[in-house]
Amino acid sequence: MDRNGIQEGSAQSDAVGELAEMLGPRGILTSPQDCARYASDQSGLSGVLPLAVLRPATTEEVSHILRICSRHHVGVVPQGGRTGLSGGACSPDGVVVLSTERMSGILEVDPEAMTLTTWAGTPLETVQEAARAAGLQYPVDIGARGTATIGGTIATNAGGIRVLQHGMTRASVLGLEAVLADGSVVSRLGKTVKDNSGFDLKQLFIGSEGTLGIVTRAVLQLCRHAPQTALALFALPDHAAALKCLAAARQRFGARIMAFEGMWPDYWDFVCHETSLAAAPVAGRHGFYLLIEIEAGSGGSEEELEAFFAELFEAEVVEDGVLAKSLGEMQALWRVREAVGEIDEDFGPHINFDIGVSPSELGRFCDAADALMADMPEVRGALKVGHVGDGNVHLIVAHDGSAVAEERIEVVIYGLLREWDGAVTAEHGIGRVKARWIAHSRTPEELALMRRLKAQLDPLGLLNPGAVLSAAD
Ligand SMILES: Cc1cc2nc3c(=O)[nH]c(=O)nc-3n(C[C@H](O)[C@H](O)[C@H](O)COP(=O)(O)OP(=O)(O)OC[C@H]3O[C@@H](n4cnc5c(N)ncnc54)[C@H](O)[C@@H]3O)c2cc1C
Repeated sequence: MDRNGIQEGSAQSDAVGELAEMLGPRGILTSPQDCARYASDQSGLSGVLPLAVLRPATTEEVSHILRICSRHHVGVVPQGGRTGLSGGACSPDGVVVLSTERMSGILEVDPEAMTLTTWAGTPLETVQEAARAAGLQYPVDIGARGTATIGGTIATNAGGIRVLQHGMTRASVLGLEAVLADGSVVSRLGKTVKDNSGFDLKQLFIGSEGTLGIVTRAVLQLCRHAPQTALALFALPDHAAALKCLAAARQRFGARIMAFEGMWPDYWDFVCHETSLAAAPVAGRHGFYLLIEIEAGSGGSEEELEAFFAELFEAEVVEDGVLAKSLGEMQALWRVREAVGEIDEDFGPHINFDIGVSPSELGRFCDAADALMADMPEVRGALKVGHVGDGNVHLIVAHDGSAVAEERIEVVIYGLLREWDGAVTAEHGIGRVKARWIAHSRTPEELALMRRLKAQLDPLGLLNPGAVLSAAD
């Protein structure tokens, strides 16, 4: 047996040998030192050292890889930037990792069709910059933009801070190329906006977390770049007031609301007072905090947001607020919200819930969760921050570090979620971490249909084994 656990003369060893020959030295990593960093993503789940890391540079190579792996019955875990928070890119025992890191680069920007064609391994930020250079915008935006890839964001149907205005990633994918488990390539990279000729097959690969096919290229729909925006932070008495703000903002600004992000006082106090992750932009204690960003209208966006604040203040919906007057002030306001990506070390052992419920019920759901957790001695604290307009809260629950505590907290929170008919993951995906909870959000009939699709497209179960649909759910 070699250091990656491959038995000499086994199907695995034959597969790795054939893959090495086909890909050449730049296209494969086999030493444990090189492979180690590809075992896990950002979920906290520890993956197993893969048999090899494959680094194809073309769709054709991906197709060859899958043909070889099918022939030898070797599982394949697709990987982009490994920023995933659900363990979907973590490697289980006995698989190869297929990294898209060499399939990177923009292929075309078409300013007239407002499209951008790209390789799947291109970082999201590179795509955003290329769109901006053409005077346009790619609206998907997440904190991990520098490392997350287009393929990863498509595979997880990433959400983020612009969903209210532009929808999830799904809404911005016009064309897609994917390779199936048997190596066949399904390619539709046209820029046709309207196409009702049969099933919209690209949707199978968007959000299926690498379990139905490997995304190799994509045509993305760009949108107009908002030349001027205004950003404000409002302090409010509670989440109910945030909903009043949202309704009023929709009446007033319509589709010009770019972001509507909420922070509960537990999160605010932790980030601004208990740690030095961010500076508090408003003083005093309040029951809820909102970040609102709008696109400029005809009246000058700052003035509009100021007038909006004044009206809500008068109506006693808003208690305090601050309007960003410069790029630096905008960054300082966003800093409070984006610090969620850095709380890890300071908060101790914790569970990251990524919960979705109806936006109108989000506040009541969080109150119900807080009430249940107040009676649980194993809970050491909870922080709540999220996309208020989308009904999506990132609930971060610290515990005593034991597996028993983790299990009990998950049972309680996902049990509550089931009663509220919510989603066990609103945007991060099921991956491996949440695979056993999927039945809390999906009916037996839905799960049966998912299994039938999986069996049809990947009868040997080689694509991302154990992710999304675990054997146990
Ligand atoms: C600081 C931080 C902030 C984040 N903020 C958000 C947020 O606001 N919203 C949000 O939705 N997510 C967020 N995430 C989670 C993560 O960034 C997204 O899930 C992102 O889409 C993952 O992209 P990736 O390239 O890193 O994919 P990976 O982590 O490498 O993979 C994710 C999943 O996609 C599959 N996959 C990857 N590439 C391909 C491909 N080419 N074909 C088929 N399957 C593939 C993998 O097998 C895996 O199941 C955040 C993560 C961090 C660390």
